[in-house]
Amino acid sequence: MKTVHGACPHDCPDTCAWQVTVDDTGRAVGLAGTPDHPYTRGALCSKLKRYPERVYSAERLLYPMRRSGPKGSGRFERVSWDEALAEVVARLQDGIARHGPLTAMPANFAGTIGILQRWAGDAFFARLGATGVDRQICGNVAYTAVANTVGPGASILPEDLAHSRLIIVWGTNTAATNVHLWGGAIREARRQGAQVVVVDPVRTPTAAHADWHVQLQPGTDAALALGMMHVIVRDELHDADYIARHTQGFDALAARLAEYPPARVAEITGLEVEAIERLARLYATTRPAAIRLMVGMERYSNGSLGFRAVACLPALTGAWRERGGGLCHFTGHLVVEALDFSAVFGPGDDPAPARTVHLAQLGRVLTDPRMDPPITWLMVYNLNPVVTMPNQNLVRRGLEREDLFTVVHEHFMTDTARYADILLPATMQFEHWELMGAWGQDYVAINPPAIAPRGEAIANTELFRRLSRALGFDEPWLTSDDETRVRQLLATGHPWLGGVDFDELSRRGWMRLALPEDYRPRADGGFTTPSGKCEFHSPTLAAAGLDPLPGYVPIAESDDARRAWPLRLVSAKVAHFLNSEYVNPRQASTRGQQPEIQLHPQDAAARAIASGDAVRMWNGLGEVRAVARVSGDTPAGVVSLPFSWWPADSLDGAASANALTPDGLSDRRFGSNAFDARVEVAKLA
Ligand code: SF4
Repeated sequence: MKTVHGACPHDCPDTCAWQVTVDDTGRAVGLAGTPDHPYTRGALCSKLKRYPERVYSAERLLYPMRRSGPKGSGRFERVSWDEALAEVVARLQDGIARHGPLTAMPANFAGTIGILQRWAGDAFFARLGATGVDRQICGNVAYTAVANTVGPGASILPEDLAHSRLIIVWGTNTAATNVHLWGGAIREARRQGAQVVVVDPVRTPTAAHADWHVQLQPGTDAALALGMMHVIVRDELHDADYIARHTQGFDALAARLAEYPPARVAEITGLEVEAIERLARLYATTRPAAIRLMVGMERYSNGSLGFRAVACLPALTGAWRERGGGLCHFTGHLVVEALDFSAVFGPGDDPAPARTVHLAQLGRVLTDPRMDPPITWLMVYNLNPVVTMPNQNLVRRGLEREDLFTVVHEHFMTDTARYADILLPATMQFEHWELMGAWGQDYVAINPPAIAPRGEAIANTELFRRLSRALGFDEPWLTSDDETRVRQLLATGHPWLGGVDFDELSRRGWMRLALPEDYRPRADGGFTTPSGKCEFHSPTLAAAGLDPLPGYVPIAESDDARRAWPLRLVSAKVAHFLNSEYVNPRQASTRGQQPEIQLHPQDAAARAIASGDAVRMWNGLGEVRAVARVSGDTPAGVVSLPFSWWPADSLDGAASANALTPDGLSDRRFGSNAFDARVEVAKLA
């Protein structure tokens, strides 16, 4: 028996460290959270409980396969790796000969995260000169809007929420999607008397356990933040000293805030005037006060505005001054600064792609006859776009194209894998090297292979090494082995690594970045904006022709659309799985469960729908059939259907939530506007 250190590969802010127990035959027989890791505290969440079963599942893809039936049928025949690679390379070279390298395109995201496997193909596709892909579905909208206000890397550390006396969890379901923060620092803060307020259109488990749930209408977060700022400035609760020393544009902001009195904000958000006044005063008068932002509320066409407005609040009240005060957001910048990413990306001197498309518009990219050159060679890895990209039916139509050659590198037969021409088996986290830097905390974990790969599965990194060799690419960052890459990533001598190198991290398994114990990144200004201040007025946005001040713009939609599809659809994450490749319905953690359409009692009564009824939900893009649940968890006029379930889980096995989501872009073109979706619901006869 031996124990091997590692870390969870899910796209989750917690990045738990784990220990795999391997018996003398080389089989993984146990998995547990690392007990002495201060953030993981020995506990993996329910999403990971059955991970070893998935690794050894009879449904794992173990061998390369070639399609033997129509696209989408899921019929394949086994071939050798040599045959598979020869066909993949021949089709790539043929496509390039006819159309040039822009005819090739990757489709990848965060199915398995970790520095090596997540980014494995980027340097390869840059070297190839392929069509570039903007993969910012959600996080970049949030990141950029916050960065325009307070600069990159302004987040306080999640552990420091233990010092907060007020925590506003804004538009994120922390109890389900960030469980170690909820059960760690936030629980500790509450034990010491902190209040937790949740701002969310949906009564999530987090909202249900909060001291106060502020249930606003979807897409109106910016208006609420502006209303709060209006009250704070009107009542002179702002921190004039902090504003004078560390912000720019206060007078312009104050003029803008005059447009957002509580009465107007109440009309926009659906909240009572009293609630807006109370929340503003609570925030301005409780110290330390933190706002927890994550991902979710940016998936509207006005998505960046909410983040921009909320990001202004801590500077207005000087909340950054205290430990446990400020914004708690992404922490990924810490590892980006501490590690040498050229081990993965190379020196970064490849020219920018001659063409870039947006992943959220994959269906359009694959079906638009104006694409010149057309995409004829697509490689999908770390992604199940049929389920996770908006406008599911258009994505399917694209993948059905007979002149498109699709390669899928996967663990399981996902809905996307069914469309592959060549389907390749991918390793799981027990089977490959990885270095895990977190985007929601401040630890690094190393993940050497604990067991041999099952069947003929290979890591993403190995796939791109083989493709590089086949094409004669010999740059070291394309051909180096994984251990070499991990060693290079860690060989920076950066002070935050505290002298820990590859050998020391291999011995320990994980480390906390050596940040100051009292880490208050903006207590005394030091904003990383161009001005060095919190930019209430942003010259960067002005130069880009955008509103330089925080503001609210309603989601643009016609009266006809509102009449035809009277309900707003929110499709959020759930507690028991993450990343659609792990939703396999025959796997344990989802067995016996099914996605539900939640309706407000008022909307249900108007349609004679009761809990448990089979219903159809549709709009101009598609239709989903599921069981209804009637509750006050959503406001009237809003329905919810969880994201990421496979179509097979719906009542007719045909479609999932993204069959109903639009494939437009959010306001700054950084992400998707999937939450703009409007729908109608009716009981099935
Ligand atoms: S999904 Fe998140 S909380 Fe669950 S084990 Fe993985 S990192 Fe930890």
